Amino acid sequence: MRVLYVAAEAAPIVKVGGLGDVAGSLPLALKRLGVDVRVAIPWYPEIDALRWQVQENGGVGVTRLGESEVPVYLLARDVFADAGPHKAIAGTKAEETWFSGFCDAVVTFLKDSEWKPEVLHGNDWHVARALSFVERTSRETFSQWGFTHKNLATILTIHNLSYHPKMMKEAILAADVINAVSPTYAKEILTSDYCEGLCEELNARKADLYGILNGIDYGVWSPETDARVSTKYSTVTWKTGKAGNKMALRQKLGLAKEGGMLLGFVGRIDANQKGIGILAEAMDRLVALGSQVVVLGTGDPKYEKRLALVAARYPKNVACILRYDEDLAHLIYAGADALLIPSKFEPCGLIQLIGMRYGTLPIARATGGLSDTIRDGETGFLFTAYSSQGLVGAVERARDMFAAEPVSWEVLVGTGMREDFSWDRSAEEYLRLYERALAKSG
Ligand code: ADP
Repeated sequence: MRVLYVAAEAAPIVKVGGLGDVAGSLPLALKRLGVDVRVAIPWYPEIDALRWQVQENGGVGVTRLGESEVPVYLLARDVFADAGPHKAIAGTKAEETWFSGFCDAVVTFLKDSEWKPEVLHGNDWHVARALSFVERTSRETFSQWGFTHKNLATILTIHNLSYHPKMMKEAILAADVINAVSPTYAKEILTSDYCEGLCEELNARKADLYGILNGIDYGVWSPETDARVSTKYSTVTWKTGKAGNKMALRQKLGLAKEGGMLLGFVGRIDANQKGIGILAEAMDRLVALGSQVVVLGTGDPKYEKRLALVAARYPKNVACILRYDEDLAHLIYAGADALLIPSKFEPCGLIQLIGMRYGTLPIARATGGLSDTIRDGETGFLFTAYSSQGLVGAVERARDMFAAEPVSWEVLVGTGMREDFSWDRSAEEYLRLYERALAKSG
């Protein structure tokens, strides 16, 4: 089966958030299943041509996903001449213009490339125009372009419904089949609290809507092999490993050497999704509980400022690092005792999966993929009320176990570290989805 996987980013070549992780790792798992999968992303100026050994062929850049055999096509260089994922401000008109241009380039690629996919797998609103092009274009056109099978099947994966609703709507209506990145989010988006004004369209497509949980690439995310952590560790050596990383983290950020539970937050500073408002509100109480808190993220300037002020109040116990920093993210996963994930909504979330692997227990709101992946009291701590009290209550429960029941804590850490969120199972589900899409489009 031949699949063109289209996304706005793909790690390690270019990454802003979870979509980049997924687009950089799911194709590798599909390849292992025998799929001839190729990736298309924008040709951003920040992509280092030398490092990724980019070859140019008829205006298309060609590279590979890391060390793998999965080709990556870089498209629409002119459109992105002055753009980049780290420069984008989510939701702006400029983004729509860039990605319309990107979709035009995807269509040109379909027409010109010798290699013809059977499935076009698009991700999020960015691909809307390409999916709707396929929907309204006749088989005759595709056969003139050299497509020999019956039709080009399309899939839309929804990673996040909250941006560019007009384009998301276009994508939802056009795709042969749709999936959201966790079973719970697939159900949630049919309801008014989560559908972002697209309830009608999503419910109309309910029969074609599936939920497939994201995985993570343990080749990147494993404390045993992670070159970015200060002390590597396994399920057997995690206690000393974590102690070493915690010391390195405290030292790097100027935090007091002794302190209670070390809590980490890594993610976009986005009050609409990531629960930054309730986190900022809870900070004083978290410190009063004897915790240290490390926040790594960028985003909303108002909340960045608010967090910086908290850090200034507690220089020995709170550090807020307001930038994108891959190295520091890894050190936080390895050095913290627990991760704070107070999201208002969370389509899947990857950091809880990374946290568990690193023996860092997630303290998370029970929503979307967080509900699907964390077992309260077994692999982490869940809370329901979207409020700072809800968050502080869950931190208190964690703190009580951390301080008074170290053996129970160790059991949770061990269980979390042994969970399997690798891509293999979900990649097989995607394969079945491709087959469904092919059957539908045929
Ligand atoms: P989302 O895709 O909604 O941003 P996810 O939890 O799915 O959230 O994925 C976030 C990914 O981005 C993780 O790999 C996380 O480590 C990374 N990340 C987010 N913010 C930063 C940052 N400031 N520095 C480094 N990595 C970050």
